[in-house]
Amino acid sequence: MSETDTRTLFQKIADGDIPADFVHRDEEIMAFRDINPAAPVHVLIVPIKPIPTVNDIAAEDAMLVGKMVGVARDIAAAEGLADDGYRLIMNCNRDGGQEVFHLHLHLLGGRPLGPMVVRV
Ligand code: AMP
Repeated sequence: MSETDTRTLFQKIADGDIPADFVHRDEEIMAFRDINPAAPVHVLIVPIKPIPTVNDIAAEDAMLVGKMVGVARDIAAAEGLADDGYRLIMNCNRDGGQEVFHLHLHLLGGRPLGPMVVRV
């Protein structure tokens, strides 16, 4: 990794330069456990293609984004979450609380997750 390395954090994980606890990997999508889990199960589903935000999803990415949801569903089932339920979240930009500018879907479950957002 050099100072001119412009790869996103998740590209570095995809390239094997930063370790992660993978639960899925194929040619288009990877999934690994969040390093700072907000629930007993907290997995990030990430396209290998470094799309920065939801705003940058192009028409040609429709299949890929659909596949991300399918991967999340399959991981939820494998983790035993299907019946009790779970939450899928994509944060976008500042108000969405996005920290890593490489598209990702959060899969959260394993306990009741409470209200969808804090009402202020
Ligand atoms: P977001 O706020 O939607 O951009 O979410 C970014 C997520 O990436 C956060 O939940 C972080 O805890 C998680 N994260 C940051 N660095 C790592 C890492 N090295 N491995 C796994 N998850 C990470």
